[in-house]
Amino acid sequence: MIYLDNAATTKMFEGGADIYKKYACQSFFNPSAGYNKSIEIAKELDGVREHIKRRLGTTKGSIIFTSGATESNNLAIIGSKRNGKWEYVFSLGEHPSVYNVARFLESQGHIVHFVGLTKNGQVDYEVLRRVVNDKTRLISVMHVSNETGAVNDLVKIGEIRKERCPQALLHVDGVQAFCKLPFNIEDFNADLYTISAHKFHGPKGVGVLYVKNPSGLKNIVYGGGQEGGYRSGTENVPCIMAMKYAIENIDVEKNYQYVKGLKDCFIENIEKADGVSYLQTESPYILSLSFSGVNGETLMRALQDKDIYVGVGSACSTKKAGNRVLESMGMNIDEIKSHIRVSFSEELKLDEIRKACHEIIDTYYTILEKVK
Ligand code: PMP
Repeated sequence: MIYLDNAATTKMFEGGADIYKKYACQSFFNPSAGYNKSIEIAKELDGVREHIKRRLGTTKGSIIFTSGATESNNLAIIGSKRNGKWEYVFSLGEHPSVYNVARFLESQGHIVHFVGLTKNGQVDYEVLRRVVNDKTRLISVMHVSNETGAVNDLVKIGEIRKERCPQALLHVDGVQAFCKLPFNIEDFNADLYTISAHKFHGPKGVGVLYVKNPSGLKNIVYGGGQEGGYRSGTENVPCIMAMKYAIENIDVEKNYQYVKGLKDCFIENIEKADGVSYLQTESPYILSLSFSGVNGETLMRALQDKDIYVGVGSACSTKKAGNRVLESMGMNIDEIKSHIRVSFSEELKLDEIRKACHEIIDTYYTILEKVK
């Protein structure tokens, strides 16, 4: 198998599965109980919080454990909502777990602005500058686009916020960036940052919301008051500990350089093929391609018969027609239909990349012949 859909999910580290088992079957205690074994677990969770903050490059703020990025994004946005004059700003490139929350706010009568993307997939900073004002409560932009690999200039967005709307909160969906890109959260001063473990070899169903100042956040789930009251429900200890294992076992800088080599190799092997085009974006982990005259989904299905797995956009939205993100970048419907997404992991070998390119080009021309 050549798995090229690592933006959809990654394979969990085997060592993480061992850790999972330990905290599911031996150290299985509820961190909220009062006896020593539970208190130990609660302390271990606090250790994970500190570890994640260090990885984000900060000592300030709080870490809230959630069931994944979808919940973290919902909590960040709905938990920051205030009644009254406030306005909310989102990019059109956001994942459905942000975009559909924005639509929900709109349906509730809030003023919501959507900022389009430029041809290279980044937020249109000039439009953002124009749209924000002294009534802006929250700006929500993603760090890295899951569709294209475009990396938003968060330092620039942080400056726009500082200059035009210092009262606004900045929420960043960091799902495709955390444990992948080297960065320091203090460089762009995000108030809220979303993380999902299964994108970096952790388990599915666990995530994090980093909150710089939790007193400004309201809970969206009501219950026993775990996670400082911001997210009730017994913490998913085995998954949290397996997530920590993944973080500890990822060398971000080393992987970044290695994966950059994989993406360069992929481009080198595919760019000369007639009818193939690709988007030049900054994240080495994601590459968006178009295969003129062939439906991306048809290509994806044909490739699975060769045990090669690619994506056709966000796994959460493949059943929907069109593609809001690519449309916002000005792509036409033919380019969108012929689009596939290839996403890398440091577990891939250069030989596999060369083989995949060869098979993808071969499969593309075979389908093209048939549909002519
Ligand atoms: N945001 C982005 C940018 C994503 O790529 C994804 C996963 N496709 C999510 C949010 C949702 O993550 P989860 O599966 O943890 O809910």
